Amino acid sequence: MDSFDGKIVLITGGASGIGEATAELLADRGARVCIADLPSSPGSDTAARLGGIFTPVDVGDSHAVDVAFDSCERELGGLDIAFLNAGVTTNVADPTELTDDMYHRIMRVNVDGVIYGTRAAARALTRRGGGAIVATASLAGLVAFPPDPVYVATKHAVVGWIRSVAPTLATQGITCNCICPGFVDTPLLSEVRDTFVQAGFPLLDKSEIAATVVAVLQSDATGQAWVCQPGRAAEPFRFPNTPGPRTAGSEGAAPPELLQREWPH
Ligand code: NAD
Repeated sequence: MDSFDGKIVLITGGASGIGEATAELLADRGARVCIADLPSSPGSDTAARLGGIFTPVDVGDSHAVDVAFDSCERELGGLDIAFLNAGVTTNVADPTELTDDMYHRIMRVNVDGVIYGTRAAARALTRRGGGAIVATASLAGLVAFPPDPVYVATKHAVVGWIRSVAPTLATQGITCNCICPGFVDTPLLSEVRDTFVQAGFPLLDKSEIAATVVAVLQSDATGQAWVCQPGRAAEPFRFPNTPGPRTAGSEGAAPPELLQREWPH
């Protein structure tokens, strides 16, 4: 995707932080943005400022997600890019302190939201003849992070989902990637921000993540997880090969045809 001029972009969690910064950058490059965020968010102000539209949505509600994508297509004339970015944390390290409400809330937003969003986006992008999906995972989708293990579980789910649906959606001309930022200075970090600052740990600026989303969209690749860390250019993570079978007689054996497809790395 070389130019964003006239492209129609739906951004979940577009009213704040990374989503807002990405909406600003893409609108600046000529895109028409649909800010999809909670009704209580300042999404309508963001959309008005960027000349776009606001569609209130709870991404954990599959019907509401379908309605949001429908209203984007109806009001802006289609969909070219979906940025599935809404997310929350628990900041609960000890599983014995994790309540059912906390667990269900984070699973709904971080996992259900991305899966419902991918499904709705894939339908809309297929109608359009192709397009791009980018989901916000996290570095916590690639590594362990003991202060919030359920957050880690949700972000590993996003990475696995995106890498696994990419080959199927490629047949419809849809690229499907995720971004894996380290710590970014946004309201999501408000509870722990001081700890980072006092320790002198560098935080990413949300504009750097927006630039990474643009870089991902401009690459032709699919099924990738782009890592963003302070002071480094964002790049696709190189997943290590996992051990194959070594039972007697199976060394060097090719897997069944289903597993032989060219998976993107
Ligand atoms: P943020 O809190 O500034 O923005 C999150 C947005 O998601 C908000 O506008 C919020 O209203 C929206 N949202 C929350 N629940 C929603 C729901 N049910 N339906 C629709 N919208 C909902 O935080 P951010 O840091 O910009 O986070 C954006 C994404 O980046 C998240 O997926 C987060 O996990 C991920 N991330 C953040 C960091 C970080 O350090 N800030 C690092 C890696 C990944």
